[in-house]
Amino acid sequence: MIPILDLTRQYSALKADLESALLEVAESGQYVLGKYVERFEKEIAAYLGVKHAIGCANGSDALYIAMEALGIRAGDEVITTPFTFVATSEAVNRAGASPVFADIDPVTFNIDVSKIEAKITPRTKAILPVHLYGQPADMDALMTLAKKHNLSVVEDCAQSIGATFGKQMTGAIGTIGCFSFFPTKNLGAMGDGGLLTTNDDALAEKLKMIRVHGSKQRYLHEIFGINSRLDAMQAAVLSVKLPHLDSWADGRRAVAKRYDELLKPLVDAGLIETPVVGKNRTAVFHQYTIRIKGATGKWRDEVQAKLKDAGVMAMIYYPIPQYNQPTHAHLGCKASDYPQTERTCAEVLSLPMFPELTAAEQQQVADALSGILVKQPVKA
Ligand SMILES: *Cc1c(COP(=O)(O)O)cnc(C)c1O
Repeated sequence: MIPILDLTRQYSALKADLESALLEVAESGQYVLGKYVERFEKEIAAYLGVKHAIGCANGSDALYIAMEALGIRAGDEVITTPFTFVATSEAVNRAGASPVFADIDPVTFNIDVSKIEAKITPRTKAILPVHLYGQPADMDALMTLAKKHNLSVVEDCAQSIGATFGKQMTGAIGTIGCFSFFPTKNLGAMGDGGLLTTNDDALAEKLKMIRVHGSKQRYLHEIFGINSRLDAMQAAVLSVKLPHLDSWADGRRAVAKRYDELLKPLVDAGLIETPVVGKNRTAVFHQYTIRIKGATGKWRDEVQAKLKDAGVMAMIYYPIPQYNQPTHAHLGCKASDYPQTERTCAEVLSLPMFPELTAAEQQQVADALSGILVKQPVKA
């Protein structure tokens, strides 16, 4: 079976470095926050080109801590994309505020900035774009709009570490950037981990306080916070991996390019669409996601099942729009307001993607997909 992601290949390549880093932490007796976390925070701040990088327990907490630090609470609204992992809108809900969904751009899969302005109300406090599949949202247009309406911008960079818009890295453009080091992300720990970034000194201080129960001075709690600390083992693993991140991104782009070539006949036949990277940005291909053109969700699911029979794991990120989640029923969103999200949830299929994927494996993926699609009607 060709997996969607194989982390054992990366581990084998870095085994000696990872094991000595882990042992060093074990022997240090310092396991949560502390010097290994501070070292990693310095390294990643330099890599991303931001003034402050603050480790936390996971990407979901990073998003929630960002909401808290910006004072977003009950009665407030945050405009975001409905086509994302649940953690994005969940952070808004956890803060007591309401997510407001804007439809997506069908080319980049990211929030359609031209759909945001109509959603702004006096309650709107922030815009929360997601750089989905490792491709930045249109940050030029988004930042211009945010400035015009005096809104904060929280970037969900869980899938986009190392991707750039213009000359800037994602996470260095908005008010706050939120990252995840879940093992399957492009920079993955050996457990959970997350990060907050900002260029604002006062906000950085607040983010740091919120991750440790709202305190600067031990046992003095000036604001409400949570326990969301990065641990030293994860930081040490991340310090070993960070110097390799750009070459892994190059590897992912090479895999994407090879897929583009292998799948071109299916594109030319009008059966699928392969990813397109928007202007003025670079993508890090967290996923390589194709569209089965015109597919119903049922037919797309069948393609996934047939690929599995042919020894290829493919995944659906994401089958259900956030506005259709039971947790958001009270928002009363109408599917007809989101034609692009509706179509996209039915059409998308993510293929195996990791830097170590071989040309032979990619050939097998392309052959399997071709075998399924050219013999079957596209519409179920
Ligand atoms: C993974 C992910 C998160 C959450 O990160 P965790 O570290 O798993 O909590 C948030 N948003 C997006 C888009 C993600 O892919």
